[in-house]
Amino acid sequence: MTDLEKPEKPEKRSPEKGANFLEEIIQRDLDQGVVREVVTRFPPEPNGYLHIGHAKSICLNFGLAEKFGGRCNLRFDDTNPAKEDDEYVRSIEEDVRWLGFKWDRLCFASDYFEQFYQWAVELTSKGLAYVDFQSPEEIRRTRGTLTEPGIESPYRDTPPEENLKLLERMRSGEFEEGQCVLRAKIDMKSPNLNMRDPVIYRILKRSHHRTGDKWCIYPMYDFAHGYEDAIEGVTHSICTLEFQDHRPLYDWFLDNVSVPHRPRQYEFARLNLSHTVMSKRKLLELVESKIVSGWDDPRMPTVSGLRRRGYTPSSIRRFCEEIGVSKADSLVDVELLQHCLREELNKTAPRRMAVLNPIRLTILNWPEDQVDMVPGENNPEDPSAGTRLIPFGRDLLIEAEDFMVDPPKGYFRLQPGGEVRLKHGYLVRYVSHREEDGRVTEVLVEADLQSRGGEAPDGRRVKGTLHWVNARRCVPITARLYDHLFTLRDMSKMEEGKDYKDYLNPNSLVEVKGFGEEALRDAEPLKGIQFLRHGYFCLDPDSSKDHLIFNRSVSLKDSWAKAQKKG
Ligand code: ATP
Ligand code: MG
Repeated sequence: MTDLEKPEKPEKRSPEKGANFLEEIIQRDLDQGVVREVVTRFPPEPNGYLHIGHAKSICLNFGLAEKFGGRCNLRFDDTNPAKEDDEYVRSIEEDVRWLGFKWDRLCFASDYFEQFYQWAVELTSKGLAYVDFQSPEEIRRTRGTLTEPGIESPYRDTPPEENLKLLERMRSGEFEEGQCVLRAKIDMKSPNLNMRDPVIYRILKRSHHRTGDKWCIYPMYDFAHGYEDAIEGVTHSICTLEFQDHRPLYDWFLDNVSVPHRPRQYEFARLNLSHTVMSKRKLLELVESKIVSGWDDPRMPTVSGLRRRGYTPSSIRRFCEEIGVSKADSLVDVELLQHCLREELNKTAPRRMAVLNPIRLTILNWPEDQVDMVPGENNPEDPSAGTRLIPFGRDLLIEAEDFMVDPPKGYFRLQPGGEVRLKHGYLVRYVSHREEDGRVTEVLVEADLQSRGGEAPDGRRVKGTLHWVNARRCVPITARLYDHLFTLRDMSKMEEGKDYKDYLNPNSLVEVKGFGEEALRDAEPLKGIQFLRHGYFCLDPDSSKDHLIFNRSVSLKDSWAKAQKKG
């Protein structure tokens, strides 16, 4: 760990302890007959890959629909052609499915462009929207501030008939980008800046990933979102806290045209995770500048990155349940996420031995070509996982750090004069060792041939147990060891004048070459395996038969559980 700060506790809430505030609202709405069937939606903009924050929103929206016997749609909020792409659409669908959720309908906001336009026409004809020819800069400048009211546009009182013609001309492409916009006519003095004649449509002469060049005006988020909900019959439109101040606008748009259904917006606190960033702009930048290997780099907080790191859908869902839903923003420690994975893999992951920084261990009293196939349990937590046979022999490899010529007190591993247990194998006693250039390269030992399985026949106590591999029967592996991508725990608290990239951890990926037991040849991509004493790993999809690459998903040390006990 690069940061010594102690993990903080998350807000405590579990379903057994009571409903969250959204569940309470929904229950009330059902009890009072305000809604008959709960309809929610997860509405990503297809301008990037999903991250763990989106996973929270997915678990929440799909979870609520499931809990109350309702439906949840996957809706692509694709109203801005500048940044959207089909690649993102595909990855989002894949990630939602992988997380274990089934949408009721697959929807695209772009399918409603004509309807949106009709509602813009309706607002305009009612005198509630106008075409503004001020420059974007002027519009910004005249918006006012929190303490000063805005200034009304000189185009604000254009008669509706004229505005309708201008809007039609905007649609037909007669004006250039930035030349004019359609604005709602609300209140330039409103204390809520969002209500000061917000822009509804702007001109963008860009091809859209689905509608091509059919449109050259595109609706703004605030205008479109409630209408999307209305069209789909969404009852509870759940979004993150920063949209709370937009809710009056959400309501205004819905209340001023004839919609087929009236949705309601509710806000919850977004997930912030320690030692990472979650803005799609920054994640995209990390990908494009090749600081990471791609959206699915195992260090990324993306769903695809977590998947490649070895996370399971159930561990992510469990995490989302643990953090709960609240109305106050907070920072959750990534250690809690790791804890959820570790707990699961402890129960399910087969155990294997791998030596990542090897030195030779030679058993002097073991016949050159003799192999003893010793049984090793696949998972001590799960007897039904059975055992495997591991070839024990004369020439073994152990970790360099498991032998010390002059160890400190309390070191129970191999040392001059000492005796240790080789896991699943035999007890061995130090005889001598060899060094090259001041580095130990080989330790020579004698085995107690009566101690097969690791028990001394006379019951003498041996404290240290080492893992090992047979040097003649093993597979070379590459292990990728990961650490936080950023050194700062709370990336919203960067020092002034610093960029988030200034906090990149230079040691976030360390690659080591080692050797693993033969059984690793059968490892399946992304399936969790415990390398004894090293942590949980999974085979990276980049591996080939001759080049096995393992990603460390999470180490064995549970700093989270430890902090919980202390705290
Ligand atoms: P950007 O980084 O571009 O602002 P975004 O994170 O808002 O993007 P969207 O595609 O608009 O991305 O998000 C889809 C849904 O996921 C929204 O309903 C949003 O509220 C939710 N969401 C996004 N980030 C988080 C987060 N960190 N925690 C919880 N929900 C989130
Ligand atoms: Mg957004």
